[in-house]
Amino acid sequence: MKKLLLHVCCAPCSTHSIEELKKDYKVTLFFSGSNIYPKEEYEKRLNEARKIAKIYDLELVEDSYNHAAWREFIKGLEAEPEGGRRCEKCFEFNLKRARDYAEEHGFDLFTTTLTISPHKNSQKIFSIGRKLGRFLEIDLKKKDGFRRSVELSKKHGLYRQNYCGCEFSIRK
Ligand code: SF4
Repeated sequence: MKKLLLHVCCAPCSTHSIEELKKDYKVTLFFSGSNIYPKEEYEKRLNEARKIAKIYDLELVEDSYNHAAWREFIKGLEAEPEGGRRCEKCFEFNLKRARDYAEEHGFDLFTTTLTISPHKNSQKIFSIGRKLGRFLEIDLKKKDGFRRSVELSKKHGLYRQNYCGCEFSIRK
């Protein structure tokens, strides 16, 4: 089986993603979320990712948290609406982290749980992944993926956040 690094944005999105991917790949989880604000929220989501790793008996790699670097990367796009250019840069930031780790640690491929969200454009994510290389193009919202992830999150009692992640996505 090929070794696949799965970038995990949050535990709820990873549930169905893991179930799909582990049919064909040897999956390792990679939690990377320097976009998440504040730090307490990041810790909360990381803890849930740890829970998921235990549930599915998978290795979890915890990337370092550097919100200042993420802010620098998206500079000038702070006022963009959700789904706009800031989000594309945000995907690029996290996907690059996963690609670099995958390359350095001998993974055949990497992909991301981000495509499961109905709010995220999978084609945009694919085009970023393609440029980075080693990217598995799989649209996890297919096969009713999002609904299934909601069901599985409830089953496992996972915390489900009510905003995407960065300070600009916090609903007033
Ligand atoms: S709204 Fe979500 S995807 Fe967009 S920049 Fe913020 S954290 Fe990233």
